[in-house]
Amino acid sequence: MLKCREIVRDADRLLAGDLSRPRKMAVRMHLMMCRHCRRYVRYLRALLAAIPFMHGPASDEEVSRVMDHIHDKRGENSDSRG
Ligand SMILES: [Zn+2]
Repeated sequence: MLKCREIVRDADRLLAGDLSRPRKMAVRMHLMMCRHCRRYVRYLRALLAAIPFMHGPASDEEVSRVMDHIHDKRGENSDSRG
């Protein structure tokens, strides 16, 4: 049985169809029993659908803008609770 944290980590790869078959089965199994993760995956799927550039190749400008954003966030949360 996977932990919720593992589901969160694998969720984007699940939606991208990028998980190995046994791993996908394990995730599915967890989702059947855990409505919190079900909701998380559903939310993530909606989020991905709402961000058009994630479906195709991004321009260099878009990539660097997103990377800047991520680095900003990381700087703020240096005392993260892990
Ligand atoms: Zn869960």
